[in-house]
Amino acid sequence: MLDLSRRTAFNEDHGQFRDSVRKFFDRELTPHLDRWEEEGQIDKGFWRKAGEAGLLCPTVPEEYGGLGLDYGYNAVIDEELGYLGSTAGIGLHSDIVAPYLVHYGSEEMKRHWLPRMISGETPTAIAMTEPGAGSDLQGIRTTAIADGDDYVVNGSKTYITNGQHADLIIVAAKTDPAEGAKGISLVVVESDRPGFQRGRNLDKIGLHGQDTSELFFQDVRVPNGNLIGAAGAGFAYMMNQLPQERLQIAVGAQASAQRAFDEAVRFTKERKAFGRTVFEFQNTRFTLAGLQAKLQVGWAHLDWALARHIAGQLTAAEASAAKLWHTELQWEVCDAALQLHGGAGYMNEYLIARLWRDARVTRIFGGTNEIMKEVIGRAI
Ligand SMILES: Cc1cc2nc3c(=O)[nH]c(=O)nc-3n(C[C@H](O)[C@H](O)[C@H](O)COP(=O)(O)OP(=O)(O)OC[C@H]3O[C@@H](n4cnc5c(N)ncnc54)[C@H](O)[C@@H]3O)c2cc1C
Repeated sequence: MLDLSRRTAFNEDHGQFRDSVRKFFDRELTPHLDRWEEEGQIDKGFWRKAGEAGLLCPTVPEEYGGLGLDYGYNAVIDEELGYLGSTAGIGLHSDIVAPYLVHYGSEEMKRHWLPRMISGETPTAIAMTEPGAGSDLQGIRTTAIADGDDYVVNGSKTYITNGQHADLIIVAAKTDPAEGAKGISLVVVESDRPGFQRGRNLDKIGLHGQDTSELFFQDVRVPNGNLIGAAGAGFAYMMNQLPQERLQIAVGAQASAQRAFDEAVRFTKERKAFGRTVFEFQNTRFTLAGLQAKLQVGWAHLDWALARHIAGQLTAAEASAAKLWHTELQWEVCDAALQLHGGAGYMNEYLIARLWRDARVTRIFGGTNEIMKEVIGRAI
């Protein structure tokens, strides 16, 4: 269990919420984790259960059926998922998709979709990346061309989290293909629109408990009302929202690094070699001591970043630095913790194997760590 005794980002209400999150995950998530890993996705019914337990989109204002809470509540859920070694895509739904509708969606869009997202009736995804454009989002080729009262969407997306489940997808598309960033808009596409097709659930190194898909759009007609905010403003909206996505990744990375560390401590205190426990070797204690020091710094930094974000002060560069630092730490801890397990660390029956596999992607998605350095560098 995560040790909260030295944390500063959370108050008593967050603590009570965390208790209910833990109870819910104990009952509805942990028993299914191994099966979801094998099946490559979570049960669709889990969305409804998470909704009923009040775990989806807790920051959405009460007028749209939400709890109107601060981001700390999302962070509680993300930390608990990270510590359990679960990659269920509910964090993306709550932390990344919902804010686009809350901040830029029309009143009609909010009243229609937000209650369905909160209840888990409508799982969501966000589709920015394409086969030919990831880091360089200005280069996307998917189009949404105005035609009478509709937009007609054509193109393909890839690596989309929740792609197999989502019934509502925010799609980044060019409404003006002649323009670069200024031609990008965000449109919502419902999964039952003719011309929309889900592709494969992609075969990944890790994150086996989360579906990641190709999505195809062929002459998909959506009404003008499906445009989020203003035409041509999509790139600016994404740049505004990406800091929260990056902080979310940092939160999960730190929690998962802590779990890897705790697993290594537990294993090395039990495992014997040369007549003593592996923990008793100086190499083990020094390795763990170095990691412990970094984890201590990491939690303090994360609390600082969370407090700044809740106060609306976290800058894009600071969020990028958090993503960069915590995901590099996650990799370092997971790799060292696996090494301390010896051959057992390479066996899937040990949690450390999954934590290590799943850690690899956090330096890539949500903007690669090279792009994080670009963002930080530009602000210096
Ligand atoms: C499991 C998973 C889930 C994902 N979920 C989603 C999702 O839900 N929605 C979504 O839209 N996307 C999603 N992605 C996509 C992810 O955000 C992209 O993979 C990521 O942004 C990198 O883009 P790319 O894969 O096109 O790599 P590229 O942009 O082709 O990068 C290749 C290499 O070039 C480097 N590079 C690129 N530009 C620069 C530069 N300017 N300076 C230095 N180096 C550079 C990169 O750092 C990288 O090392 C997901 C990816 C994965 C793996």
